[in-house]
Amino acid sequence: MRRIFPAHAYGPGPRAACFWAGTADIPDYPAAEGEIACDVAVIGAGFTGLSAALRLAEAGEDVRVFEANAVGWGASGRNGGFCCLGGAKASDAMLRRFHGEDARRDWRRTEMAAVETVRALIDRHGIIADTHSEGETAMAHTPRAAAGFTARAAQIEADYGVTPTLIPGAELAREGMRGPFFAALTTPIGFALNPLKYALGLARAATGAGARIHAHSPVTAIRSDGRFHLTTPDARITARRLIVATNGYSSDDLPGWLRGRYLPTQSNVIVTRPLTEEELAAQGWTTHQMCYDDRFFLHYFRLMPDRRMLFGMRGGLFSSPRHDERMHRTIRRHFDAMFPAWRHVETPHGWNGLLSLAPDLTPFAGPIPEMPGAFAALSYHGNGVAMASHAGAILADLATGRTPRARYPEIMQTPPRRWPLGRLRRAMMWPPYAWATLRGD
Ligand SMILES: Cc1cc2nc3c(=O)[nH]c(=O)nc-3n(C[C@H](O)[C@H](O)[C@H](O)COP(=O)(O)OP(=O)(O)OC[C@H]3O[C@@H](n4cnc5c(N)ncnc54)[C@H](O)[C@@H]3O)c2cc1C
Repeated sequence: MRRIFPAHAYGPGPRAACFWAGTADIPDYPAAEGEIACDVAVIGAGFTGLSAALRLAEAGEDVRVFEANAVGWGASGRNGGFCCLGGAKASDAMLRRFHGEDARRDWRRTEMAAVETVRALIDRHGIIADTHSEGETAMAHTPRAAAGFTARAAQIEADYGVTPTLIPGAELAREGMRGPFFAALTTPIGFALNPLKYALGLARAATGAGARIHAHSPVTAIRSDGRFHLTTPDARITARRLIVATNGYSSDDLPGWLRGRYLPTQSNVIVTRPLTEEELAAQGWTTHQMCYDDRFFLHYFRLMPDRRMLFGMRGGLFSSPRHDERMHRTIRRHFDAMFPAWRHVETPHGWNGLLSLAPDLTPFAGPIPEMPGAFAALSYHGNGVAMASHAGAILADLATGRTPRARYPEIMQTPPRRWPLGRLRRAMMWPPYAWATLRGD
C-alpha cells in the first residue's frame, strides 16, 4: 500500500484510548478466505461502504464488504458524532464561481438531505445510537464572529429554509452555555450520535439484508479486465463491480486513480469522565447541544447523555506516539481554556483519526474515470457522518445502473483533481497550519 502518513497513523495506536470502543461490542466478522465471486465488492467498512452495502443488499445484489481492520475502525467509528450540515469546505463564493448559483443551492439542499438520510436509516433499522441535540450551535469566539451571525442567520434561512436562533452573549449563561463566547447561533438541523453504534447498526442492517462483511481483510491489489480481481492475504475475489470507500485511509495505488486525489488530515478528540451536577453548575455549561466554534483549528464539543464532555479539535501534521501525546496535551490546554472550572477533571480518553480533503474542497461520489464498473466516494472535509452515509447510498444506485434516489448534486459529481507534491502533499497543510498557529486561531 502507498499511504502518505507514517505507518503509526494506520495502526492501533491513535485509537487505543477511543471512548466509543468501550460502548459497544464489535462483532468479529470473518476474514475473507479462498476464492470468492460476488456482484459488488466494497472496500472499507465505514459509513460510505456500509451505507452502500446496505442499499445494494436491499436491492438484491450479492455484495461483500472487505475491511482491513474491523467495522467502523476508520474515521466512522472514532469521530465526534456530529450528524450535521457540511461535507465541503469550499466557500459560497468558490462554489458560485466554479459551479454556479443553482449548483450551490442544490449542494446546500443536499447537506440537509444527508442528515435526513441518517435519520431515516436510524429509524428504519431501529439503530440505538444515543442521539441528542436539537440541531447544531455555532459559538462565536470573537466579537467579530458574533457580529457576523445576523448575516449568517439570513444566509442559513435562504439556503436551508429554516430559521436559526440567535442567542446574544448576555444570555448564554441562562442557556447553560457559559464560556469564552460572544454569541451563539443554533441551526435546527442535525443531531449528535454515538458513531460506532451507528456504524455497527448499519453493518447489522446490511448483513440482515444479505450483505457479507469480511473484517481483517485488507485489499492489497486491484486488477481489472472487465471484472475486478481483488487480493487480500487469504482470498482472491472476483466482482462485477467495485466500490472504493476508504476515504482518509486510502492508498495511492488502490486503485491507481486515487493517487494524489485526497489529502488525509487529522482530527483529535478527548472525552472526560462523567461530570457531576456540581461540576456542571460550576462551569455553567449544562446544554446538551452539539457546538463548534469557527477557529481555523475548529473546536467541536458536546455534553453527552452520560454527562461526559466530548471535545474535538482539528490539526496535527505528524503521526507518532510522541506526536499523539503532544496533541493530547495541546487539546487539553484548549479544553482547559474554554472550561476552566473543569481543569481538575480527568480526560481518560483521547484519540485521533484521518479525514480527507479534496483540492477543490468539495466531496466526490461517482464513477471512477477510466475504470468502468468502479465507483468511489470520498473527501467529506471532516463532516462525513451525514455526507458519507448519503454518498454510500448514491454509489449503490450508480453501481446498479440506477439514477440515484438520493439527492445527487452536480458538485459531488466532479471527480477530484490531484493535489500538488505527490506523496509529499501533506506539506500543503504546513503553511496554513503555521499561519493559524501564529494568529492563535
Ligand atoms: C477524529 C475525527 C472526528 C470527526 N468528527 C466528525 C463529526 O463529528 N461529524 C462528522 O460529520 N464527521 C466527522 N469526522 C469525519 C467522518 O468521521 C468521516 O468523514 C467519515 O467517517 C468517513 O467515512 P468513510 O466510510 O468514507 O471512511 P472511514 O470511516 O475512514 O472508513 C474507511 C475504511 O476503509 C478501510 N480501508 C482502507 N484501506 C483499505 C484496504 N486497502 N482494504 C480494506 N479496507 C481498507 C479502513 O480500515 C477504514 O475502516 C471526523 C473524523 C475524525 C477522524
